[in-house]
Amino acid sequence: MAEVILKNLSKSYDGKSKAVNDVNIKINDKEFVVLVGPSGCGKSTTLRMVAGLEDISGGEILIDGKVVNDISPKDRDIAMVFQNYALYPHMTVFENMAFGLKLRKFPKSEILNRVQEAAKILDIENFLERKPKALSGGQRQRVAVGRAIVRKPKVFLFDEPLSNLDAKLRVQMRTEISKLHKKLEATMIYVTHDQTEAMTMGDKIVVMKDGFVQQIDSPLKLYNNPVNKFVAGFIGSPSMNFIDGKIIKNTKLLFQSVDGKDTIELSGKYSSKLESYLNKNIILGFRPEDIQIKNTESGNLSRHSIKLEVVEPMGNEIFIYFLLGNAEITGRVPADTILKVDDVIDVFIDKDKLHFFDADDQKSIVD
Ligand code: ADP
Repeated sequence: MAEVILKNLSKSYDGKSKAVNDVNIKINDKEFVVLVGPSGCGKSTTLRMVAGLEDISGGEILIDGKVVNDISPKDRDIAMVFQNYALYPHMTVFENMAFGLKLRKFPKSEILNRVQEAAKILDIENFLERKPKALSGGQRQRVAVGRAIVRKPKVFLFDEPLSNLDAKLRVQMRTEISKLHKKLEATMIYVTHDQTEAMTMGDKIVVMKDGFVQQIDSPLKLYNNPVNKFVAGFIGSPSMNFIDGKIIKNTKLLFQSVDGKDTIELSGKYSSKLESYLNKNIILGFRPEDIQIKNTESGNLSRHSIKLEVVEPMGNEIFIYFLLGNAEITGRVPADTILKVDDVIDVFIDKDKLHFFDADDQKSIVD
């Protein structure tokens, strides 16, 4: 059992501004929770407070119901894997992995068993006698994870552990850490700035910005029901498109872009919430995949004539870029389409996949 609760957690380094502001997160036993957000949003500070490496300015951290604010890092029964691996260069892989157990005065036979077991799980049994400098980045990362595993901690903390790896290895290690989580059935808290990493690994994702938690949800819920424009734009790649405009009415409710040139008729499912925004400023959002260039009979579509500014073939699909309602819009279309820059074509926006944000507080209006 290892449940971690952060209660009104705050941190100020200078006594004035807050790097972490009133953060409340409940991490259930065996859960994989990812803290994600742009650089400087307070993810590492939060994680380091859980580890006990950073003093807490306000609030509480509870592990299995016990307040650990004043408990030293070594007595918290947690293990942390860092971005730079933090291996001892003069020690072999075996010694690096065994070090924490030796310090804690484990018997030799127990240390041997645990290191061998972890090495097997991580497929580094053949490197145990090597020094870190004789290992690749991916192997070093495994040793760093191995050092955490041998401790059999209640909670694993990961601080951007894959940032120093190349793209291919990053994807591979992503899967390995997810598998490891299933195998060890441990509680894990993982920090990354990479929304793809968060989406593919997290049972639950905490999106942070400027020291504040924005939303805590499952990956799909974050994607489909972002609570504000920041989360909507941060989760998903390429990002959601946004157009400034307002709600107007002729016989039906319409969204009209700020330049007055484009309108989208709003389907009934949005009207009750948007009625109160009549003639008010609003931000419309829709994802690149909710644009088509073929007029299928099935969808509830809004047609717009546009000129292609950029066409980017990605192999499996094409990204198209164009202007609509004074905004730069990205679309994803099938790879078999023949398109050129400056082509004037019709695009069709799925009217059932729209998002709306209040222009003042940027909160989602319809979710
Ligand atoms: P993230 O991990 O999301 O990139 P951090 O938690 O590292 O963000 O940083 C949050 C904020 O706290 C940033 O504004 C950063 O500059 C500041 N900060 C981080 N560590 C320190 C420190 N040791 N001293 C002073 N300010 C710090």
